[in-house]
Amino acid sequence: MKSKNTKKIEKMKKKHGLLAIFAFILTCVVATMMLSYFVYSLVFYLLEAKLSSEYESISYMARIYEQSISEDYEGDVWAILNEDGREYIIRDKNGNLLVGDKDNTCSEDGDLVKLSGIDCDVEVFIDKEYPFVTLDREGLVTVRMLDLLDYIQDHRKDPELFLLIDDGDVSTDTSNVLFFESDSYLRLPVWMGMKVAGGEETFIGKGFVYIRMSDVSIVLITTVILGILFFIIFMLFLVNMIGNIKSQKRSMKLFFMDLATGGHNRMWYIYKGEALLKKRSSASYQYAVVSLLSVKYNTFCMCHSVSEGEEIIRKVSDCIGRHITRHEVFAHESPESFMLLLRVKDQDELTGRLGAIISDLEKIDNNHSFTYHLGVSVLLPPRDVNGRVLRRRYIDLEQDYNNAVTARNTLNGKEDSGVAYFDLKLVEERKWHDQVEEHCREALVNQEFLVYYQPKYDPVTGLMRGTEALIRWQSPTLGFVSPGKFIPIFEHNGFITEIDHYMLERVAMDQKKWMDEGIECVPISVNISRAHFIESDLAEQIRDTMDRAGAPRNLIEIELTESAFFDDKNALIKTISKLKEYGFAVSMDDFGSGYSSLNSLKDMPLDILKLDAEFFRGDGQGERGKIVVSETIKLARSLNMRTVAEGVEIKEQVDFLAEHGCDMIQGFYYAKPMPADEYVKKLAEKKADK
Ligand code: C2E
Ligand code: MG
Ligand code: MG
Repeated sequence: MKSKNTKKIEKMKKKHGLLAIFAFILTCVVATMMLSYFVYSLVFYLLEAKLSSEYESISYMARIYEQSISEDYEGDVWAILNEDGREYIIRDKNGNLLVGDKDNTCSEDGDLVKLSGIDCDVEVFIDKEYPFVTLDREGLVTVRMLDLLDYIQDHRKDPELFLLIDDGDVSTDTSNVLFFESDSYLRLPVWMGMKVAGGEETFIGKGFVYIRMSDVSIVLITTVILGILFFIIFMLFLVNMIGNIKSQKRSMKLFFMDLATGGHNRMWYIYKGEALLKKRSSASYQYAVVSLLSVKYNTFCMCHSVSEGEEIIRKVSDCIGRHITRHEVFAHESPESFMLLLRVKDQDELTGRLGAIISDLEKIDNNHSFTYHLGVSVLLPPRDVNGRVLRRRYIDLEQDYNNAVTARNTLNGKEDSGVAYFDLKLVEERKWHDQVEEHCREALVNQEFLVYYQPKYDPVTGLMRGTEALIRWQSPTLGFVSPGKFIPIFEHNGFITEIDHYMLERVAMDQKKWMDEGIECVPISVNISRAHFIESDLAEQIRDTMDRAGAPRNLIEIELTESAFFDDKNALIKTISKLKEYGFAVSMDDFGSGYSSLNSLKDMPLDILKLDAEFFRGDGQGERGKIVVSETIKLARSLNMRTVAEGVEIKEQVDFLAEHGCDMIQGFYYAKPMPADEYVKKLAEKKADK
């Protein structure tokens, strides 16, 4: 099976080639047929004209004979008939000879023939001695030329066959006649008869078809002229056809050419690549479909110029070309990307070759550094159930290349060179991504997003000191979904801002409700994604949301994930300061999961530090881990910040944290995130049940 594009290209190529060949063959056949028909008609016309004139003389003799028997005829009819010297016979209606030489050479049966200028059908009899003058099935007099030529060769001195014309007189001296000398002619005998005596008798006279040199010349000259004409037409067609094929080749070359690099383009890659994969010998190899992207190409073009960028791309193309063998293909796809099809024995060879390509490409320009992202889709040799290698049958290089691009896209955002391999998990991820994006808006309208609460406890007193609001998605189509599966997608498409506002509002309303019910509430932290910090009025929005719900501001805490701290630092400091001014506590979430957190601590006026769950993964933290945690708590204290430890699951960790002055613990050891009604019960209890 071939991809749609390959089929289209093949169709395009076939159409042109076949059409030209078909037109050429048709022209040749038609020209040959026309030439043969014309020559045949000419010969027939000449022959018929000669027969007609002979028939005139014979019918004249027959009419004299008829008159002699029907009227009171007084003359000597035989003398008149013999006067001309023409041989004749008369037969009765049964074919018996009435008059004439019984050794005559006239055939027994005749055939009716239509001659031009003669009203009635003429009965023609063949001369037995000259059998090459025959009648064909349609009753036409024909001359079997090859037999005649043989006969002439054998009888070229026969005075009966050839006559010499000497100064207008007929001579019978044929001693010098070879074959059709200019003043000789060939005479072929044919018998022609007509019914007389009321159809009771047939008068048959011997006629001769005289073929002169001039007749032959007419036929030959006409044939040659027509032949030359047809040859010219034929040559014109041939030249035209070759021109067509050449111009088709030229347009195919243009069709497959990449103007920027002078190499090949995407169409070529698909067409040649599929042809390569289809070859019998290709079955035993692994192929790697590679999408290669020059990461900084666009920035380079922006800082320099597109033409300088194209110069770089040409170097990239040349460099890739040096790594490609004759069993492989590559093409320039878009300004910054290339398509490769590599043939390798195993994964090790592939890794080595890709490494070599990247390392050479990184060195193509001494003044600038370039990096490359490579997405790879590996095509393993197809095998049957017994493990035998099979010929590739289902080939869709476009799909495979798309898979390679999908793999390459997973490297987006990374600055360094890298290679990503495609596997089916990526397809699943992509599908999930699309489903989440498709359903998220209606989910918000239908209130499918739920707020779960996870309390934070004081490890010394065991009292609840705070809570974190965590989102869950109860979707009728996707089921119950935890945030790890959709928050990154929302952060990517920007929907996170709506979600965070929704969560804030819901938490504010819950707090207000519980307060109105007389329940003593604790501060609830709400996660605010970094995507919000481009909004300069974020602090005001949060303030207004709380005020609208009527919940006191000190009951809300804002959690910023550490990644937020990479964004515009000044804007971040401004928003944090405003939030604090409006009466909100601000915490840094997941502290320790990145690498610039210490730096952030220096500049940000934060209230709370949340130690990342990663510190508490596994059974024990190890000595070094313990030192880091205890020192971080100390550091936070010195900076006037409270600490919360996340992801704490075991008692030893709780004891350790309590000992080192950690203010709160949020973890499964105390409680998992829970729905609001369950949380309210816990809130009423206040104290942890541990
Ligand atoms: P996070 O803000 O760091 O939340 C803490 C995560 O750790 C929660 O996962 C919680 O269930 C989990 N956790 C707490 N204690 C333990 C423990 O002892 N063991 C283990 N294994 N896990 C524990 P969750 O609810 O799945 O949330 C994951 C992340 O999703 C959150 O991490 C937060 O970054 C994000 N997220 C959740 N809700 C929202 C939201 O409303 N807005 C935004 N922007 N992000 C949210
Ligand atoms: Mg959080
Ligand atoms: Mg966290």
